Parts: sequence; C-alpha cells; structure tokens
Amino acid sequence: MIDYSVYLKGGFIPTKMTSVICNNCSHTINAGPIYKPKFCDMCGAPISDNLDKIKWEYEDTDWLSYVSYLVEEYPDYLIVKIKYDRTEWGLIGLPPDVEHIPVIIGKNMEDILHFVNERGSREYFEDDFEPATVSELIAYAKTCGQFWKG
Ligand SMILES: [Zn+2]
Repeated sequence: MIDYSVYLKGGFIPTKMTSVICNNCSHTINAGPIYKPKFCDMCGAPISDNLDKIKWEYEDTDWLSYVSYLVEEYPDYLIVKIKYDRTEWGLIGLPPDVEHIPVIIGKNMEDILHFVNERGSREYFEDDFEPATVSELIAYAKTCGQFWKG
C-alpha cells in the first residue's frame, strides 16, 4: 500500500512524504525512487504495488497542505486558538489582528503547548487558548509563511 503523508521536517518545514506499507505486516518498507525492493524487509512478503508506476512525493510544501492532512487523518485532534487578549496585540492594546491569531492543531493540549513553546517568543499556558474550528485553522494556515506565527 502506498501512503502519502505530510510531516514537519526538522520540526518546522512541512514536507510531503511517500511511504510503502507492507500489506502483510504493515511495516513501512525501506523504498524510494532509486531503491525499489520486491519484498518486505521485515516479513519477506512480496510487495503488491508496482513501485515503477507510483508517484514519489518528497518536496517541501506549505502549511495549508500540512494542516489539511492532519484534519483529514486525525479528525479527533484538538484545534485551538490563542485568546485575543493573550496575544501581543491584545497585551499592548492594539486593535485585533484576527487574521493572524495563531490557530494550532495537535493530538492534545500537552502536544500543542510543546509545539508553540518551542517556537514562540513567549511562554504559553493552557489558559491562553480557546477552542477553534477547522475553518479558522485553514484560514490561519493560508496566511502562514514557513514559521507557525505566519
Ligand atoms: Zn511485511
């Protein structure tokens, strides 16, 4: 089985990845455009996909592709946004910049806090977030550059 996914290369560059999964043991087989084995390197079962015909995708992509992939693959993930009054704009009393309030997706609050605190310019706590919708996440991802803050 061929599986296309999007992951964060080096923790911050959304990147497409192509994996060959064994139909027998579900192991991710070591394979690529220049290495196309005929058998699973874990259980020895023959690989049923024609590795000459598949499209290998490895290139860097954008945040929209990354969050769209997460929303589709992990519908139970938590989507939250930073409360306006906790943002830099809110803290210094500037008008709302609703276009750029970070909206984050993660498997749980711990995962989200780890993600933002590794990259953000200040430390965030659970209380800094409120629930957000998929459309808010998508809208935010469209404004993002390479960095999560956009
Ligand atoms: Zn196998």
